[in-house]
Amino acid sequence: MKTSLRTFIKHTAKDFRNQSVNPPVVRASTIIFKSLQEIEKTEKRYLKDPKSGNFNYGRQGTTTTYALQKILQEMEECYKVYLTPTGFGAVFLAVLSIVKPGDEILVTDSVYSPTRLLVQDYLKKFNITSKFYDPKNLNDLKNQITNKTKLIFVENPGSNTFEFQDLRKIISLAKKNKIYTAIDNTWGTPYLIKPIKLGFDMSIVSATKYYSGHSDVMGGSLAINKKVFKLVESANRVTGLRLSPDDAYLILRGIRTLDVRMDKHHINALKIAKFLSKQKKVINVFYPYKKGSKNYQMWKKYYSGASGLMGLKIKSKNKNSVKSFVNSLKLFGYGYSWGGFESLALYQNKKQLGARQFTNLKKNEHIVRLHIGLEDSKDIINDLKQALKKIK
Ligand SMILES: *Cc1c(COP(=O)(O)O)cnc(C)c1O
Repeated sequence: MKTSLRTFIKHTAKDFRNQSVNPPVVRASTIIFKSLQEIEKTEKRYLKDPKSGNFNYGRQGTTTTYALQKILQEMEECYKVYLTPTGFGAVFLAVLSIVKPGDEILVTDSVYSPTRLLVQDYLKKFNITSKFYDPKNLNDLKNQITNKTKLIFVENPGSNTFEFQDLRKIISLAKKNKIYTAIDNTWGTPYLIKPIKLGFDMSIVSATKYYSGHSDVMGGSLAINKKVFKLVESANRVTGLRLSPDDAYLILRGIRTLDVRMDKHHINALKIAKFLSKQKKVINVFYPYKKGSKNYQMWKKYYSGASGLMGLKIKSKNKNSVKSFVNSLKLFGYGYSWGGFESLALYQNKKQLGARQFTNLKKNEHIVRLHIGLEDSKDIINDLKQALKKIK
């Protein structure tokens, strides 16, 4: 029976169901076979159907990792999903699968900062050049394409400033120039947008965030189409980046409620974005809430909903008072990462944003990142209300 995604993520992996609702955690290095012929058969089956769960060694996964892989392959509507021990591992695998010495990569300027470090600094060692394009200006991307451009790396929306780009236009530009495309889809997840279906070659999600949803495990996924399969498969074989069965189990447990949590994150974040947009000191709310704005239109065009992460631009001559606003929040934790059930806040210092070329943050402007959790939105608003008084 064909069911909706909501039903699917509750019911899949039941092939593995014996005595328990969820699949058991199968930990293994050696996989035991009944005969030598069985080993050969398994290897042949995998080569014929790389999406299948035919494993012959722990590094290829076990039935537990496969249960998660199977859900994600279905959600992403893609050729295959690779699981990595962190979200950043999936970024690494995607990029390193594609590039070789002499190539150029075009990356959105609003990219997650470790990704910037990878492409801008680390890849220099291999004579790979990275260039950053303005996510607000497709022409800038177009103008920077050369015959050496091998990969366009998009993150949508961008970290901290949350620009939404015209994804279909980027894909067609890339196809016209025979360039591979990758997108970091951690903010939206395939619950809200399906990048491979849209035409991207690769799509990355940090499973640490919304898939897990409980801030207690790390993981990543790289979904791909058939076009890049050989490249990714051969890189994957030599990187040794593997998600453990225990972590896969926790992520699988989180993903059962992905839809319910995401819907609620959206409801809460929208209320908070609207509240914050009315505050005098808040000059910009980076969240798709304002109908008619360009960001809203681009979001609406591609996404069926929104998650809980947003940015605020605050204007104040007194930087410490902005920090004091963040420090006075009582329901928000201060720390990295996001996507869990709980609210989080961070002051983003200029150093973190400093490597960027197109942010244009003025002298008295500050960026605060909020992750809106699943608490009662009235409580979150009351908390923000009392803390906002600190901004001078
Ligand atoms: C967190 C994050 C990552 C990396 O994920 P980890 O699981 O922390 O390694 C990659 N991209 C984006 C956009 C992220 O927010």
